[in-house]
Amino acid sequence: MQDTKRTGSSQVLITRILVAVLWPVWLISPILAQAQSGSGATVDPAVIEDLVAANRILADQGVLDGFGHVSIRHPANPAHLLMSRSLAPALTTAADILEYGPDCNAVDDRGRASFLERFIHCEVYKARPDVKCVVHTHSPGVVPFAASTVPLRPMYHVAGFLAAGVPVFEIRKAAGMTNMLIANAALGKALAETLGDKPVVLMRGHGNVVVGPSVQTAVFRAVYTEINARLQTQALALGGAVTYLEPEEGAKADIIQQQVVMRPWELWKAKAMAGK
Ligand code: MN
Repeated sequence: MQDTKRTGSSQVLITRILVAVLWPVWLISPILAQAQSGSGATVDPAVIEDLVAANRILADQGVLDGFGHVSIRHPANPAHLLMSRSLAPALTTAADILEYGPDCNAVDDRGRASFLERFIHCEVYKARPDVKCVVHTHSPGVVPFAASTVPLRPMYHVAGFLAAGVPVFEIRKAAGMTNMLIANAALGKALAETLGDKPVVLMRGHGNVVVGPSVQTAVFRAVYTEINARLQTQALALGGAVTYLEPEEGAKADIIQQQVVMRPWELWKAKAMAGK
């Protein structure tokens, strides 16, 4: 009896020791599996839903039309990103989201076409570890500023992030005569260099790229870059001197705006996803 008891208790002890030693391995086994495959890490459906919402919001708000795209950095695999297959943003669903590796190819394209300008996203994430979301638009109010010597500047507190300065990317400097598309890694890298540490870069003859530390902030910035551009055009048309936010005012306003970014996000999301 005693022997059996002893054997029993030592088995329990061994089991406990094994559990104690092995459970951390079990915990990190999905990470190890991802590291081996280099891809395919499971993503929280809520994260995918927000990316789908971002596409639809930007279309709903008139920032994206049939063109343009939004990506997010992969939450579990920072060298990868998530983005829709080649598709008008207003039509995006969770099933359209693909994962891209550092080479900017889809990990598994499931026979679907990718955006020609996906290199914008891949190269910005490589250059900017702080960026979690990248938006590329042909935002109509912004295009004149990309073509003009008049810099885009913050008209009001909501667009305070523009006070950091808005550089303009001149594709001819990087590659001479092109079809204007950022369709390879070298052009993506040149564009990311012009963006530097700023939240927005304009692209001459094309549109812009807007980045942020979250999908909500990047979407917020893309929407208010467009609105600010229209307001600035109106202010310039009045003909008098225009007073913009000072850099310090803009920086201070941006801190507050980032704290309340969920308010417009929830409104825009409810509108854009209604009936979907
Ligand atoms: Mn484009």
